[in-house]
Parts: sequence; structure tokens; C-alpha cells
Amino acid sequence: MNQPRKTRILFFVISGYALAAFGWWFYILTQNSREQHDTALQKVYDDALKAKLEIYDCCKDMFDEEQELNIDSLQNYIITYFPDYTLRFLQKPKNSDKENGLLAKIEVNPKAYIFEKIEQKYQRKLTQYVMEGLVFVGLLFWGIYYIYKVVSRRIDVNRQQNNFLLAITHELKTPVASIKLMLETLQKRQLPDQQRTDLLADTLNDTERLGKLVENILMATRIEGGHHNYHFEETNLAGVVEDTVSKFAKGTEKKQSVEALYNDEPFITADRLALGVALSNLLSNAIKYSPEGADLKVELKEQEDYIELNVYDRGQQIDPKEKTKIFEKFYRVGNEETRTNKGTGLGLYIVKQIISSHHATISILKRDGGGNIFVIHFPKESGA
Ligand code: ADP
Repeated sequence: MNQPRKTRILFFVISGYALAAFGWWFYILTQNSREQHDTALQKVYDDALKAKLEIYDCCKDMFDEEQELNIDSLQNYIITYFPDYTLRFLQKPKNSDKENGLLAKIEVNPKAYIFEKIEQKYQRKLTQYVMEGLVFVGLLFWGIYYIYKVVSRRIDVNRQQNNFLLAITHELKTPVASIKLMLETLQKRQLPDQQRTDLLADTLNDTERLGKLVENILMATRIEGGHHNYHFEETNLAGVVEDTVSKFAKGTEKKQSVEALYNDEPFITADRLALGVALSNLLSNAIKYSPEGADLKVELKEQEDYIELNVYDRGQQIDPKEKTKIFEKFYRVGNEETRTNKGTGLGLYIVKQIISSHHATISILKRDGGGNIFVIHFPKESGA
């Protein structure tokens, strides 16, 4: 079993144990309260009997059947010594034997508020336990959720960093090996002109790829450390679109078409180079994740309140659950072992950072006929 899975299982076991322990604690407390409640009730009845016997003991004479009962003095006795009880005289005693017959003439009962007090105390205790329990469970769940989030995040970051290292090793190794091979071929063999030109073009492509990779890593590092200096100036967005698209429009390996569509030439305060990098990254992805012959386009539209820049691809629909995650650093959809497309998971992170620094937003929509649209909204008065 891998480490993240083990950590998650251990985490759930500990959380489950904490919850079970809390449940047990709650059960014991309520049981104790119930016992205290029952004991208090029992005491009330015991005291009633005690009162009755004491009255009988001290005023035995009055219980003589022939004698008239001095009701007032008995009432005074009970009020003085047992204020929580009432004394009642029965006209028809229930028992017939002599002793009990005398005792049976009176009845000592607890006053109603005694029961109310006991019941209230019991209810108060229960409410207290329930409230404490709710707060405790709330805090426990919040803590569990928070720790779970932090641990999951940590595990994800570790996984993504490992993926990044795997990807970057691959991304660096492959072009370096191919450049070396091509240069060695050129050095050792006299090739026909056409073959030589093709080899040089391939070498140049690989160096460009390496250059872009290094530029992306450097930019991500600068942005992450807050060291990237943006140079904001009045920028014609249509110019940025035109320049960037022209770099891709010469044709891709997959024979895709890349087209720039715009009628307006809106100006905003922006870092022209940074926006170029962001659009380049979006277009590179559109090319990378779309099939052969796909119709890709970049569209610039001036709306009433904002300026919209759309990048259309024919790639696989991005799962709604992934729509935020793909903008995180090193995040790549799927699994490094099974994934076929090359990449480092830095492209969209850089896009998002650049877009945010222009106070713009980016979202992903579904494209008619398949694919995605990466939609950027620039505020009209970009006060960046
Ligand atoms: P990379 O492309 O190097 O993996 P990115 O940050 O550019 O990293 O993209 C993150 C992930 O988002 C990619 O791994 C991919 O799964 C997904 N993605 C990005 N752009 C597209 C697109 N145009 N179509 C489909 N999926 C995309």
C-alpha cells in the first residue's frame, strides 16, 4: 500500500476512534445523570417516610384513637422540620392493624416543586451535555476536516512535485538527447542538403522547446517568489493576439489550423510580454491537447463592460471538478505513468498568475462540437 493511502487510512482510524470515544463519554455522562436523578427521587420518598415516622414518634399520644388529633400542632411540626413536605389527614385509613392504623391516619407527601426541581436539574444536565457535546463534535469535525484538508493538500503537493520531477527529467532528457544525436550526425556524416536542413530545423525545434521549458520554470519561480516585474503600459490587445497567433499559425505538427479573429483593437494597461506568454501557453495547450487537423482559434471581442479573449480548442472536455485544479502549480490531469502528453503542470499556473495580475478572470466553457473555450475577461479600465 502506498504512503498517501496509508496516511489517509490511519487518519480515518484515528478520527473514528476519537468519535467512538466521544460517544462513549456522552453515554456514560447521561447514564450518571439518570442515576443521580433516580437517587434524588428515591431520597424524596425516603424523606417522606422518615418525616412520617418522626411525626409519629414525637406525637404518638395524639394518634391514640380515642384522642382528638391536634391537627394544627402536627402541621406546625411538619412546616418547621420538613418544609418541603405536606401533611394530609385521612378520614378513612387504609390499614386495619393498630400501629399502622394510627400511622395510616396521616400521609406525608413531597411538595410538587421538589419533583420539578429534580426534573429541572436533570434536564439542565442533559442540555449541558448535549450542548457541550455539540460544540465538541463540531470542533472535532472541523478539526478533522481541517487536518484532512491540510494532510490531503500536503500529499497532493508531494505527488505533484514528484510528478513534476519525473516530467521535467523526461522533458529535459529527451530534447537534449535528440539534439546531441542530431549534432553528432551532422558532425560525422556528410548529408545531402535537404536532409541537413531538416535535421537543423528539428534541432532548432528542440532547442526552442527547451528554451520555453526553462522560461516557464524561471517565470513560475519568479512569480512564486513575488520577484516578477511586470511592465505595464498601454497595450493593444489585438497586437498581442496577432503576434502570438502568428508564431503558431505557420502550421503545427498535427496539421491544425490556428486563426486570430477580431474586429476591434481594444487598448488596456498591460504587460505585453507577460500577456504574450499567457496566450502562448494557452495556445500550446490547445495544440497539444487537440487531435490532428483541429480548428483552433483565438477570438478578441470588446463587450460593453469588459474585453473578452477566447481560446478555442478541440481537446478532451475538462472535467468540472478539475476546472480550478488545473490552474494549480504542477497539477496535471490523470496519472504520470499512463499520461501520454508531455508537460510540467506549470503552463496554466503561469497563465492564471499573469491573468490575475491584470485584474482579469479566466474560466473554461464547453465548445460546440467538442473541446473547450478558455475565456478571459479583462476589465475595461485595467488599473493594473
Ligand atoms: P501541462 O500541459 O504541462 O501538463 P498545464 O498547467 O498547461 O500543464 O495544464 C494542466 C493540465 O490541464 C494538463 O495536464 C491537462 O490535463 C489540462 N489541460 C490544459 N489545457 C488543456 C486543453 N486545452 N484541453 C484539455 N486539457 C487541458
